[in-house]
Amino acid sequence: MSPRLDTDTVVVGLGAMGSQALWRLARNGVDAIGVERFSPGHDRGSSHGESRIIRTAYLEGSEYVPLVRAAWRAWDELQEAAGTELVVRTGALMLGRPESPAIAGSVTAAERHGLSYARLSPADLAERHPRHRVRHDEEGVFEEAAGVVLPERAVLAAVNEARRAGARVLTGRTVTRIEPDPDRPRVWIGDTEIRARRVIVTVGAWLTRLLPGLADLGGGIRVERRVLGWFPITDPLSASLEPVFARDEADGTLWYGFPSMDGGRTLKIGIHAEGPETRAPEGRRPGSQWGEPVDPDIGPRPPDAADARRLGALVAGLRGVAPTPERTVSCMYTMTSDEHFLIGRHDELPGLVLAGGFSGHGFKFASAVGEALADLAGEGRTDLPIGMFDPHRWDG
Ligand SMILES: Cc1cc2nc3c(=O)[nH]c(=O)nc-3n(C[C@H](O)[C@H](O)[C@H](O)COP(=O)(O)OP(=O)(O)OC[C@H]3O[C@@H](n4cnc5c(N)ncnc54)[C@H](O)[C@@H]3O)c2cc1C
Repeated sequence: MSPRLDTDTVVVGLGAMGSQALWRLARNGVDAIGVERFSPGHDRGSSHGESRIIRTAYLEGSEYVPLVRAAWRAWDELQEAAGTELVVRTGALMLGRPESPAIAGSVTAAERHGLSYARLSPADLAERHPRHRVRHDEEGVFEEAAGVVLPERAVLAAVNEARRAGARVLTGRTVTRIEPDPDRPRVWIGDTEIRARRVIVTVGAWLTRLLPGLADLGGGIRVERRVLGWFPITDPLSASLEPVFARDEADGTLWYGFPSMDGGRTLKIGIHAEGPETRAPEGRRPGSQWGEPVDPDIGPRPPDAADARRLGALVAGLRGVAPTPERTVSCMYTMTSDEHFLIGRHDELPGLVLAGGFSGHGFKFASAVGEALADLAGEGRTDLPIGMFDPHRWDG
């Protein structure tokens, strides 16, 4: 590689967000270079494991709904450009007590935005969604506008389409340093320098490694471990594709699962947050302290027998699923203190546009976030509703 490259925009990190940003830039005719330390679609960041939930009645806050809507539209655009399916519509079932974030937060978001949904009693659930064992004091909220995004396939599709539209993609290259500058920021890959007009930084769990000045932003950015497991299905119960689900337990544990993506053999579940937790208005889940810290250069500790047992205990809430996982994997969440994302510019990092801190719920938005990042790098502004993710929101 030549010791100096020039371009309009560099995208550092081609995971969920960076791959989408690179595609949007290239599609807009912008000269762009994407740099990825591994190969797109890899399993060492936060975007592997076959499936991600997309929901519209957003329990984490009704203010996300306009961005989810933008994301659905933007996923369709990428699917059309790539000629491949990236989102599978299954509907979503939220389960819990009426006052739980899963139920109350989803209902609030649906009511505020006029989304269609159905409230289901335990008897309704037994009839329509027999996979789920619920207690008499729990209920369900079903929405159709939900499903599964295929993460590895989505990253690869965006990178391939970016390449096809003219982007240069450097894989197996680690950005070692970024020099912010309002006119000509520089990106270093060892001794190779890339000069650009703008730099988009989408390095996921490595954000505060590359930009250590952000480590204390908003009270601190933490990288935490999470574990997923695939459990054998012993009884199909129904021939149709089941909805994705999230379940709020009485102790505050929020776990989730997917319909079988392997022809009815296994079903994947994961834990988003362990209880106990404090509750906040509108079903938001502020700063859960749970989560083993991870050094992203080492990676999350591999799953062990205790993880398998913990997941297996939750599977008791599902009919027709064996309690021992066939396989488990671990991955990383990058948490902000309020569990909302960081998207935008930071005054101390001129020439850079950031997207990080997706706090375990960012994938569904990646298509719209990529579009917003390309707008911010190009025009300096975007019409997409990302104001609440301003990295300066904690100032004063
Ligand atoms: C187990 C699990 C389950 C989840 N479930 C859901 C869900 O159901 N729905 C949902 O919406 N979200 C979900 N999420 C969250 C979502 O997957 C993440 O928010 C999202 O993938 C984060 O994307 P990212 O681009 O910030 O990070 P990543 O996709 O990890 O991308 C960062 C990239 O930057 C690269 N990189 C890092 N440093 C450098 C460097 N110095 N030079 C070059 N490249 C570099 C990395 O290799 C990586 O490819 C889940 C996350 C996990 C871990």
